[in-house]
Amino acid sequence: MARKNNNHSHVPIKDVLNKLTIEELNIKGKRVFIRADFNVPLDDNLTITDDGRIRSTLPSIDYAIDEGAKVILASHLGRPKGKVDPRFSLAPVAKRLQRLLGKEVIFAPDCIGPHVESIVAKMKEGDVLLLENLRFHPGEERNDEEFAKALASLADYYVNDAFGAAHRVHASVVGITKFLPSAAGFLMRKEIEYLKGTVHNPVRPFVAILGGAKVSGKIGVLENLVDKVDKVIVGGGMAYTFIKAMGYEVGDSLVEAEMLEFAEMIRKKLVKNNVKFYLPVDSVIAQSMEAGSETKLVTTQEIPKGWRALDIGPASVKLFSEALQDAKTIIWNGPMGVFEMDAFSRGTFGIAHSVADAYALTIVGGGDTDLAVHKAGVSDAISFISTGGGASLQLLEGNELPGIAALTDRKEE
Ligand code: AMP
Repeated sequence: MARKNNNHSHVPIKDVLNKLTIEELNIKGKRVFIRADFNVPLDDNLTITDDGRIRSTLPSIDYAIDEGAKVILASHLGRPKGKVDPRFSLAPVAKRLQRLLGKEVIFAPDCIGPHVESIVAKMKEGDVLLLENLRFHPGEERNDEEFAKALASLADYYVNDAFGAAHRVHASVVGITKFLPSAAGFLMRKEIEYLKGTVHNPVRPFVAILGGAKVSGKIGVLENLVDKVDKVIVGGGMAYTFIKAMGYEVGDSLVEAEMLEFAEMIRKKLVKNNVKFYLPVDSVIAQSMEAGSETKLVTTQEIPKGWRALDIGPASVKLFSEALQDAKTIIWNGPMGVFEMDAFSRGTFGIAHSVADAYALTIVGGGDTDLAVHKAGVSDAISFISTGGGASLQLLEGNELPGIAALTDRKEE
């Protein structure tokens, strides 16, 4: 695995974020409300199975503690639909956080109200309080002004470090910023620096690898990147819509009929822009997606009726990997096949290794691709793995996220 010699974004943060950041607030002795994304996976015993999201917020929490703030943390967990539901309590997060911080984390049984206010009133500098699940109140997802105001009344400053929730217009993400000076936390800043900064001013050659099930899920990303990248690699289910649009048969592979025209339009635009465009040349096919079903390796032009492509083949992995050789920046979003099943995981893992080996700034968009690089055992060799699925796609689409837009503007020096 290559050692990363270039694992910092080279784009100054002020070029891509004109908002206050946590370091610009004077938080000593102040109550700081940090919106985190502690939406962690839990098993049936309510044990946290992956605490990555908690760990990624530690820089902001540690900083606030060291600065002598009274640190009030808030998050959502799951979808309790505006009602108290013990299965979605943040109590396990409080415990894990306590262990990670090595100091007491006070846990409040609610996120607003007189009881919480009395706990906050007793906090001392450096104390850490975690509020109960914001989504136990219907006002959170409705962006209710009264609820936002009640949250804001607990604090002097607001910091948003919940990148994974930044695309949501919710009370703790958007509404609350009306009442408090509001800044980005370190994780939020890093996400913007990498995802937005890279697309804004990439070191070239700049290669985008796109995969996953559908073209329709990546329309905005394709449209935004089409005149910014040097190479585009498309794998996964979405590749077969492109191949079909070029006039080839793809058997029973996933094809979105309503996306055929769009796929051809994007391909032509890429050609016009002199962007090199790569599609799978071979595929692993099966008649059904069931485990144990017979598989075959064929060239992509030879997928028979009744068979569907569920992974890219070794020749495609080689072709794509060669295309990554000279890359200086790589963004990867979406698996190359149905990697959840062993029989169709090799393409995705092969590309994960090639991305990890590249002497490039490598950025992985959240969700499935994050899981794939972890499963492939190469996550440590990736420059940056986004913590937000939907939010990272939105940034790659060039959209402004509501949770970032709502923060306080930085004054020009
Ligand atoms: P997305 O959320 O659009 O990134 O899609 C991720 C999903 O795409 C994963 O669950 C994969 O199993 C699925 N996927 C990848 N390749 C294929 C394929 N060739 N056919 C069907 N589904 C696929």
